[in-house]
Amino acid sequence: MKLKEAIEQLKNGLAGVAEPQEVQAMMRVIFEDVFNYDQVDVALRQESELPDFAPECIADIIARLQRHEPLQYIVGKARFHGHQFKVTPAVLIPRPETEQLVDLIIDENPGSDLRVLDMGTGSGCIAISLARALKFAQVDALDISRDALAVARENAAALKVKVRLFESDMLSPQPPATYDIIVSNPPYVCWSERDAMDSNVKDYEPGQALFVPDNDPLMFYKAIAPYAAQSLARGGSLYLEINQRFGNEVKRLLEQNGFGEVRIIDDSYGKPRFVAAKL
Ligand code: GLN
Repeated sequence: MKLKEAIEQLKNGLAGVAEPQEVQAMMRVIFEDVFNYDQVDVALRQESELPDFAPECIADIIARLQRHEPLQYIVGKARFHGHQFKVTPAVLIPRPETEQLVDLIIDENPGSDLRVLDMGTGSGCIAISLARALKFAQVDALDISRDALAVARENAAALKVKVRLFESDMLSPQPPATYDIIVSNPPYVCWSERDAMDSNVKDYEPGQALFVPDNDPLMFYKAIAPYAAQSLARGGSLYLEINQRFGNEVKRLLEQNGFGEVRIIDDSYGKPRFVAAKL
């Protein structure tokens, strides 16, 4: 199978799945991650022969994308904050909004030797990106899912950072330690919002990492806030990703737990997506 034949097959197979521009983006990922062809190769080597496994592999990818399986799970990788992370269905696919949260923390914390905790780390994308970017930081991360922790461990090793990983339930956290920064992107999508979500999210990504009951949408924040109030050093900072509907409620909750300078920060789509506060 020639490269140009593979492109044709993908274009035809994915026509009903996504808009042409998105199909182009998917093809870039497929050629790069599966066949090691970058964009320049794809443009210049149209006549080159792909390996023997290509026809079967491409047919399989098309079939899975037609069933709305996320491409990142199919290729087993996702890009986040300039790095390549392994992902499996045990972890949420890192979102661009969350990159903004990481940038915010890096911009606001130029100091060195900071002690950082990421609660509900999943693939480890936040913790590992911070460990790479902050100067001499000591980074801890916890998750309830052993399968997620295994993915985070592989990512930390592949990206050559030391992150201490703990198996722990955010709702009954470990004994307090001392941190300068605590960050979390906990589950915050209400079950009633699930129906409106794309099938690639609701049918494939781990519900445990996404959803909260409608009658207690802040359940994770209610556990994180007192834990952070106990564990942060004086002047320490808490950074949270939130459901856009609950900015004011999360702000109030943090104030009730003794936090000050509480800010609600918009994401790049103009939605209130983050809350930052100081102890
Ligand atoms: N932003 C994610 C989504 O919309 C949700 C992440 C989360 O629940 N923490 O799919």
